[in-house]
Amino acid sequence: MDYDTYGSNAVELAIDLANADRDADPGWADAFLRAHDEWFTIETPLELSPAEARRAAATADLVRAVAVAATQDEVIARLNELLALARPHPYATDHDGELHLHYARPDAPALEQLTTTVAMGLSQVVAQHGWQRLGVCSAEGCDDVYVDTSRNASRRYCSNTCASRSTVAAYRARRKT
Ligand SMILES: [Zn+2]
Ligand SMILES: [Zn+2]
Repeated sequence: MDYDTYGSNAVELAIDLANADRDADPGWADAFLRAHDEWFTIETPLELSPAEARRAAATADLVRAVAVAATQDEVIARLNELLALARPHPYATDHDGELHLHYARPDAPALEQLTTTVAMGLSQVVAQHGWQRLGVCSAEGCDDVYVDTSRNASRRYCSNTCASRSTVAAYRARRKT
């Protein structure tokens, strides 16, 4: 499957948002925007008010809810909640040399750009490739969500780190018995 387009890459922004560590840092939202500044138009102030940060957290919770949903009905319900927060205003651009679409109007505030890009990116991947492509890491002690871009949809872990940690743990467990 082809993940080389903006729309499909946008799902990574959604996944990163769902996995952001919000407990450790009260300024997590601004830190998240700064770490993902390539998703925002240049002039966008990357600062959220406390109320906006709470809305970003609610968006993160909805992305997670889509990823952990067990039925298609639940996926559709959560996706529609997420899409209701979006203000899509697509436009074509070639700012990086490749003609592609952006989902949020370029002069929208940071929260609107974030919510819209996350909602549209996640929905597009789910609609095109199926909601089973989203999952929660199987490694012990990790509950990060992921999108499975592997050819045979066989992914079980959020990262290579978690995959190898689990392989080592399984090996040790086998040796003990
Ligand atoms: Zn772009
Ligand atoms: Zn993990």
